[in-house]
Amino acid sequence: MTKGKIGVTTENIFPVIKKFLYSDHDIFLRELVANAVDATQKLKALAGTGDFKGELGDLTIRVDVDDKAKTITITDRGIGMTEEEVDKYINQIAFSSAGEFLEKYKDKAGSIIGHFGLGFYSAFMVSQKVRIETLSWQEGAKAVKWECEGEPDFTMTAGKKTERGTTITLFLDADSEEFAEEAKVGALLNKYCKFMPVPICMGKQKEWKDGKYVDTDKDNIINDTEPLWTRKPSELKDEDYLTFYNKLYPMQEDPLFHIHLNVDYPFNLTGILYFPKIKDRLEVTRNKIQLYCNQMFVTDSVENIVPEFLTLLHGVIDSPDIPLNVSRSYLQEDANVKKISTYITKKVADRLEEIARNKKEEFEQKWDNLKLFIEYGMLTDEKFCERALKFALLKNTEGAFFNYEAYGEKIKEAQTNKDKKTVYLYCTDPVAQYPYVEAARAKGYDVLVFDCPLDAHFVNLLETKLKDASFKRVDADAIDRLVEKDERAGFEISEEDAKYVTSVFEEILPKENKYEVKVENLGEAAAPILITQSEFMRRYRDMAALGGGMNFYGELPDSFNITVNAENPVIRKIMGETGVKALTADSTLLRQATDLALLSNGMLKGKALADFIKRSEDLLTE
Ligand code: ADP
Repeated sequence: MTKGKIGVTTENIFPVIKKFLYSDHDIFLRELVANAVDATQKLKALAGTGDFKGELGDLTIRVDVDDKAKTITITDRGIGMTEEEVDKYINQIAFSSAGEFLEKYKDKAGSIIGHFGLGFYSAFMVSQKVRIETLSWQEGAKAVKWECEGEPDFTMTAGKKTERGTTITLFLDADSEEFAEEAKVGALLNKYCKFMPVPICMGKQKEWKDGKYVDTDKDNIINDTEPLWTRKPSELKDEDYLTFYNKLYPMQEDPLFHIHLNVDYPFNLTGILYFPKIKDRLEVTRNKIQLYCNQMFVTDSVENIVPEFLTLLHGVIDSPDIPLNVSRSYLQEDANVKKISTYITKKVADRLEEIARNKKEEFEQKWDNLKLFIEYGMLTDEKFCERALKFALLKNTEGAFFNYEAYGEKIKEAQTNKDKKTVYLYCTDPVAQYPYVEAARAKGYDVLVFDCPLDAHFVNLLETKLKDASFKRVDADAIDRLVEKDERAGFEISEEDAKYVTSVFEEILPKENKYEVKVENLGEAAAPILITQSEFMRRYRDMAALGGGMNFYGELPDSFNITVNAENPVIRKIMGETGVKALTADSTLLRQATDLALLSNGMLKGKALADFIKRSEDLLTE
């Protein structure tokens, strides 16, 4: 029997291990099962090269829980260890590397991705005693039994194991007895080991018999050793991807599209990404991508690994080339991570472009659910934006779709103003802004729909990306001033009269807003009074409401432009011979015309609305 002290750098690292990642004790099971998987894969490799000539036999890894003895055992039929190997790998290397790891990351433990690198010694996070029983694959090897009771002292004696491989027994400490429950261990295996490449068995499959679940004699294999992303895309059908999605995210709506990632140079990465349906729930759908390392679950928070907008996608990424035992902030600087992130962005853009081109109808159908994702990507990722300008769509009030180029061509002739800018007219709510939409359409103009929460920012972006483009919401001004063609003869008004008209409207209109009042010639067909909100002010207020450091605009009172159309028959009738002085606060006609303007903006409410109805009834009985 050998007794000894393990080569530790710290006085006693066990208390540290126990406290380490207090919230995440879970990982011990992944680390131990991963070692069992490694040992099994190594044996298969030795068999492949002919170094191991024996029978591989059943290589299933077994995890057993004993809730009475409060133990968990993990048994593999891999390469096992000789006495020298236990001494070297467990007593010296593993222990000192666990020590070094802890020393280095003590303070920022929580930020190490998936808390990698702790390995075998993470067993002590939950155990008061750990036992290794192992028999090496090598001919003539002797079984070894190693035990350690949570102090740097261990014992190593001859073992009784007769089967090749390793059994690790954890004697759970009092604080960790929850792990002696099959359901708990089952949940951990399901989280971390669901796709590991060697079959893992926990207990027996159960069946419903005589009013309760009883064990059958069939092994309960908890993992899928060949998950979809490891298979060849050419062998898979759309249904396979859908089934896999439902397995990953039970109870979720079906996704729109998928992308199968598969690259082995200059880095290794496989995976499947799904586009979920996102309408206006940016937050809910975030952080669903699972990161794996050789089929072992690492984490489901991949920020810092993929560009921010891609965290809206769902699915799986598997790469051994993402460094995992570094802090998250370091990760973004890593050259491989940068390459991986660029690659994924490119693949996502490629796929969208391909669908937009080859399955136009399907792309249009799914656009409403895809739009927020694409706009968010365009706003936050320069490279993606350049790509998306080619395939992103615009939708008009008739529900027709256009890419940017085609739309630019469509409206160019009619909607280019006197300054050679093409005016893109849009509405945010086709129902509420109906009168303005109709006024624009009556002119032969086309109106787009921008009804997505990010659109205030997005419209700004498009103005910088599309050549000579200017975006105007249809209710930002009289249509002739939105698309200004040529100078129209203005309405002559003295400074004093202008002041007078302003004072009249300040009296008539709701007091909480600010008004800029003008009298102009807008043509006979245009409304008598127009209430509009400048594109600039409104857009910045909307952006401030969304956040983005423009709060100054958010705090200003709402300000509106009031235009009195001197050419409209109603206004002509009120002014008669007298001119603007006839526009008075007690003119029933002026009040009526003003209320109609408020009404068409959805701004006539409460008492003002009741007054309007009463006045209208009086007018009818006159
Ligand atoms: P890592 O797995 O990162 O090398 P660990 O501390 O988990 O670090 O393990 C240290 C070493 O102990 C392994 O590299 C391996 O050589 C050996 N080892 C651990 N578990 C097993 C096992 N189940 N079968 C065979 N060897 C093992």
